[in-house]
Amino acid sequence: MSQATLHTPTVRTTCPYCAVQCTFDLHVERGLPVKVTPTKDCPVAHGTVCKKGLAALNDLRHPERLTTPLLRKGGELTPVGWDEALAYVRDALGNLPPERIGVFGSGSLTNEKTYLLGKFARVALRTPHIDYNGRYCMASASAALNRTVGYDRGLGFPADDLIRSDLLLLVGANVAETLPPLMQYLKGIKDRGGIIYAIDPRATTTSKVAGRHLAPRPGTDGILALGLLHLMKQWGKIRPTAPAHGMTQVLAHADDYTPARVAHDCGLTEADVFALGRAYAEARTPLILTGRGPEQHTQGTDTVQAWLNLAFLTGHFGKVGGGYAPLTGQGNGQGGREHGQKNDQLPGARSLRDPHHRAEIAALWEVSESDLPQPGYSAQELLNACGDPAEGGLDALIVIGSNPVVSAAGAGQVTQNLRSLKHLIVIDFLPSETAGLATLVLPGSMWCEEDGTTTNLEGRVQRRRRAVTTPGAAREDWRILCDLAAALGRPHGFTYTDFRALQDEFFRATRGGKADYSGLSAERLDRATAQWPVKNASGPDTPHVYAPPFLTPDGLATLHVPQLRAPSLAPRALHLTTGRLGNQYQSGTQTRRNPALKAEQTVQIHPDTAREHGLNAGDLVTLRTAHGQATAPVTLTPGLRRDTVFIAFHWPQSANLLTDPEALDPHSRMPGFKTTPVTLHPAHLTLPLPTRPTLSPVS
Ligand code: SF4
Repeated sequence: MSQATLHTPTVRTTCPYCAVQCTFDLHVERGLPVKVTPTKDCPVAHGTVCKKGLAALNDLRHPERLTTPLLRKGGELTPVGWDEALAYVRDALGNLPPERIGVFGSGSLTNEKTYLLGKFARVALRTPHIDYNGRYCMASASAALNRTVGYDRGLGFPADDLIRSDLLLLVGANVAETLPPLMQYLKGIKDRGGIIYAIDPRATTTSKVAGRHLAPRPGTDGILALGLLHLMKQWGKIRPTAPAHGMTQVLAHADDYTPARVAHDCGLTEADVFALGRAYAEARTPLILTGRGPEQHTQGTDTVQAWLNLAFLTGHFGKVGGGYAPLTGQGNGQGGREHGQKNDQLPGARSLRDPHHRAEIAALWEVSESDLPQPGYSAQELLNACGDPAEGGLDALIVIGSNPVVSAAGAGQVTQNLRSLKHLIVIDFLPSETAGLATLVLPGSMWCEEDGTTTNLEGRVQRRRRAVTTPGAAREDWRILCDLAAALGRPHGFTYTDFRALQDEFFRATRGGKADYSGLSAERLDRATAQWPVKNASGPDTPHVYAPPFLTPDGLATLHVPQLRAPSLAPRALHLTTGRLGNQYQSGTQTRRNPALKAEQTVQIHPDTAREHGLNAGDLVTLRTAHGQATAPVTLTPGLRRDTVFIAFHWPQSANLLTDPEALDPHSRMPGFKTTPVTLHPAHLTLPLPTRPTLSPVS
């Protein structure tokens, strides 16, 4: 592996986008990376990449790149020096009660920044209110795994094990567009004679490659899993992975889910349910992988639980090539949910509620355990509290590496809430729509301008290496957080001599936690990547984690009875489901600006449904839900269910104007991005849209 530095022509690093975390060599000329070469020893992609990775350098010196702090003066964001910017922070936040300040982080941050952000919130700001956009990603899968086996590590095995499955169920996971290098594993499974089912309301490239496609109604994936468990019980296929709590209740509950009921609720045929059941019963190593399709629901945790129960009770959970696993989406979605930017978490996936964990981290941070706040708001609750003058409301918010004005549910309400804040401080490298509402914008670092580590979708820790320095007055994000702590008069614990001092503290902070990285160092990661836990410097890493005894108080798993209802629709309403496009990433702050990643916002509608509504391809259609409306051109999509409409969420003032900011999963606090009742209206028949909120100024 290259050990290149700022002065050498190639630097080995990782992609800024999805959780595959493809490794690249960046070729540097005259101080700037000019070319990306995928590396064959990438443990997941094996030398493949997707368009996003190959085009990632296009935004590096984008004309809109933020290179100086911007302070709102007279309604305009105005360039200022760092001294003035930090004086603003001191005056703005220094006089607020801590509980009126929020922090909103990101699953794109490196592990070290994730760690530092959690420490900054709890030690420098002393606020309980920190959470992050990963709450919108795979929080439901994380919640289900944590409450069942005590921890979650996405794939609990190396990606190379995937081809050892003889039946792959991809549940709501369009990997061809979201995690393209994984398609080589689908090919590998088929080459070995395996069967692949894509379970998705839309026919996609993934479902074409899979060859078998079931399209249940949005929001009914978990009911399908209950139907499979019912059949496995009838057919004598129950042989649990290990003794566990709750098995009797879960099996009894499945009795109600007959194939007839399941077919009715899911909008499938009984023959579909039986065929899938037979394939599962006959497979030696059936593997269930969930994506955001079954997870981004207000009953997402119980939906995942239904699939997890099925894998566990049929003896496949933890088996090489079989079982259950979620596919992480965001670049550092895995590490981002382990090291303290979640509202209830301390580094190493410790619990902020556990007195022992609090004492361990308080000692490391040289603060009193009683000074650490208790858990605060989750992501959507945090945004919902912004600008509320009543008790429990927030007056100030710091956002780093995230664009909730586009990605949060109920984007219209969220926009108004952020406008109502006294202080909105955004740390970013491009002017996102959220930065456009800020009172202060601080120019931060892009992926190849910083060192650190990320953890990929199989729990593998890899180095991200700096290839170039930040432009203009932009600073590395970790330095900005330390500068903010100093401005607030709380520099203790934020005076690292260099990045390495922060990184070493981060690794130490995980020691003894479930996500233990304490055996890692930059030098070890230069020699080889490692899957956590890695408990000591000379010990091994842990490619396979999901084996009993589990990380629960008695070592046993606890299965939970899923509480699931099929969504109902009023007459003429359809299911609105949101999702991603292959050429775009998350809220599109980077990818919408990238000329190599062209994509257009459209509304995907089945041709029959379009005809019923008097719509043709290219017509503008207005989508209306109880939460808002949005207009975009129609794309006719024969592979989509007739009762379902699809819209991508990468654009502002669009998909998330339509989603509900209030209803949340009771366990994961996930909004229901995948099922919102919607009606369609040809735009020429609709009233003019309300004036779009402008992105500046903030009064
Ligand atoms: Fe690899 Fe994902 Fe980056 Fe594409 S976006 S190059 S799949 S890490």
